[in-house]
Amino acid sequence: MNRKKKKRTFIVGVLLVISLIGICQYFQARKEATLEPYIKLYLHEQGTIVGMDLEQYIKGVVTAEMPASFDIEALKAQAVCARTYAVKKLIEEHSYPQDADLSDDVNFCQAYASSSPRELAKRIDEAVESTRGEIMLFDSKPIDALYCSTCGGKTESAAAVWGKDVSYLRSVKCDDCTNSPHYQNSQTINNEDLNKLVGDKGKTLNIKILTQTPSGRLKSLSINGHQLDAGTLRTELKLPSSWLEFHPSVNTTVINTKGYGHGVGLCQYGANGMAQRGKDYHQILKKYYSGIVFYQLAY
Ligand SMILES: [Zn+2]
Repeated sequence: MNRKKKKRTFIVGVLLVISLIGICQYFQARKEATLEPYIKLYLHEQGTIVGMDLEQYIKGVVTAEMPASFDIEALKAQAVCARTYAVKKLIEEHSYPQDADLSDDVNFCQAYASSSPRELAKRIDEAVESTRGEIMLFDSKPIDALYCSTCGGKTESAAAVWGKDVSYLRSVKCDDCTNSPHYQNSQTINNEDLNKLVGDKGKTLNIKILTQTPSGRLKSLSINGHQLDAGTLRTELKLPSSWLEFHPSVNTTVINTKGYGHGVGLCQYGANGMAQRGKDYHQILKKYYSGIVFYQLAY
């Protein structure tokens, strides 16, 4: 069987999981569902394609997306997230350059690293191999397994960020990421530079928070009467998150931030903190993704 056919067979197999979840034994008995998918990955910096088995790809994603020094249960949780995310993309037949199945561009998919130091690679191999084929489902479908570095104390809901409620992406309290270097940060910005963001050349600064998400993250603000959305502010000032406070003074403003990333889904440092408290990867994932079930792909 050629690679393209093999991949198509896998996708058909996964679609069967979705429609026939109630009769899993029927699916598992199908010979073609036992084939591990072979994927074509687009390397966006090189502009080339590389092919590999799905589990090999998952090892590269875990390498790139989480420090290999993290607890093994956190690495396993990351492996299940990465696999679920990838399988969802494969089912959706997402379009990437050069007809690739997946991309290493974090703006559209997950990061990927082809190698890591030998000792660290062993830990990643263990995390991926011990969760081989395991994904997360909600309502019989692979979930959108979003994750971020550090939530800062509370994750964000999908509804607050995208305006669309996703049952398993609710805001949850997180007490386990306090050891993250990104838990709290602070930076000082010249008031003139803040004014420039809204095209105002004045030196006086008047900041007002207009809207916030239920978790406390900023949605929009006004600077000297000009409205600005939080995404633009975050991009322009390279702020680690939109969960922030302003402390203006005469010439400068201190901006304190909590967390790093969008805050939706798994908190990676929180996962590591939970693992250090003795929680296993199933417990970790169930905390950050409400109401999910685990499913074993039969390859
Ligand atoms: Zn957290």
